[in-house]
Amino acid sequence: MNEMELSARQEEIVSIVKENGPITGEHIADRLKLTRATLRPDLAILTMAGFLDARPRVGYFYTGKTRNELLTHNIKKMKVSEHFSVPVVVNEHVSVYDAITTMFLEDVGTLFVVDEASRLQGVLSRKDLLRASLGQQSLQEVPVHIIMTRMPMIKVCKKDELLIDVANKLIENQIDALPVINEKNDGLEVIGRVTKTNITRAFVELVKED
Ligand code: ADP
Repeated sequence: MNEMELSARQEEIVSIVKENGPITGEHIADRLKLTRATLRPDLAILTMAGFLDARPRVGYFYTGKTRNELLTHNIKKMKVSEHFSVPVVVNEHVSVYDAITTMFLEDVGTLFVVDEASRLQGVLSRKDLLRASLGQQSLQEVPVHIIMTRMPMIKVCKKDELLIDVANKLIENQIDALPVINEKNDGLEVIGRVTKTNITRAFVELVKED
């Protein structure tokens, strides 16, 4: 939202507030010879984007944040909860063959492996399945729990985490996806997934919101 180009009127509002803040919406409108109602969308945008702050009964004031600080501010508002996808899971006893089929049918790059109680046991990536396919065994006979990356090695995240922290975990661990989990007393319940695609989409949305 911060790389946004402000309209001429918005620039003008910012400079009025910069010089005169705190100032009420009405006073800003007076200076611009506009009605308060005409100004409302601009003030909402400037407040949402973090340029201005509004205090009830006091008015608007300039936050003094640079565009870069505003960008950081807006990135840190992005939570896993608003950016995750539904998880695709397979049982630990299904065959590698079936996991490959599921990956194609569901059009995902990472599968999460769960036990009978639906608790997270492992992760299967595309390369895990490719590697298994190079072996001599029949893929219908090898259960995925033999080849998956297993607990407790699995990196996970929670709904209330910042998306930027998840992005860092993906980079540090050189992986494509994290399961979003709820901690239960018998293990981890998988409620979603965050992938590089979710993060790329969030990155694009940051600009689109303008
Ligand atoms: P690919 O192997 O297809 O490039 P990844 O980079 O996601 O896909 O996976 C690399 C390795 O890391 C694989 O062996 C995979 O099982 C493992 N892996 C993937 N996601 C996770 C995760 N969230 N936690 C731990 N290991 C993972």
